[in-house]
Amino acid sequence: MRRAVYPGSFDPITNGHLDILSRAMRVFDEVIVAVARNDNKSPLFTQEERVALNREAIQALPGHERVRVDSFNGLLVDYALAQGTATIIRGLRAVSDFEFEFQLAQMNRKLRADIDTIFLMPKDIYTYLSSSLVKELAKMGGNVDCFVPPCVQLALKHKIFRTA
Ligand code: ADP
Repeated sequence: MRRAVYPGSFDPITNGHLDILSRAMRVFDEVIVAVARNDNKSPLFTQEERVALNREAIQALPGHERVRVDSFNGLLVDYALAQGTATIIRGLRAVSDFEFEFQLAQMNRKLRADIDTIFLMPKDIYTYLSSSLVKELAKMGGNVDCFVPPCVQLALKHKIFRTA
């Protein structure tokens, strides 16, 4: 059983995240989407809301039975160990992601020598897409429909404009 963890803030999950997840599912038998609390990023959605949105969003992916959505706090390497995997998935959009991701991967390996980070590239149309940009756009009343799954479109409207 080849298992990997795909960690992130997912605040909120975008079509870019889902693209990376689909690619990871081709390589691994089981992928755990692990939602980090990330208080220092002042997330728009609570960790519980992000877990619920991720669970709903993955329903559209073929083979989603092989995906588990979970949350974690604390060190990712400890979480991965507890889940019985030493493989971390991260997405690389552009060279600008590289420096931080490289630092993170090396730090995780320093914490646990057998940890490997696998980087996957999204489809080109997602390379400029980020959760922060989606939130900015949504707050200004922009249309985010082609960037996020339907459940996130709705959740953003509720969260930002307090619609029923
Ligand atoms: P974090 O706060 O840990 O960076 P994110 O939710 O922003 O969490 O991202 C989680 C992972 O998904 C990161 O590896 C990030 O590079 C990747 N990612 C985010 N958006 C995209 C995208 N549009 N295409 C490909 N990968 C992405």
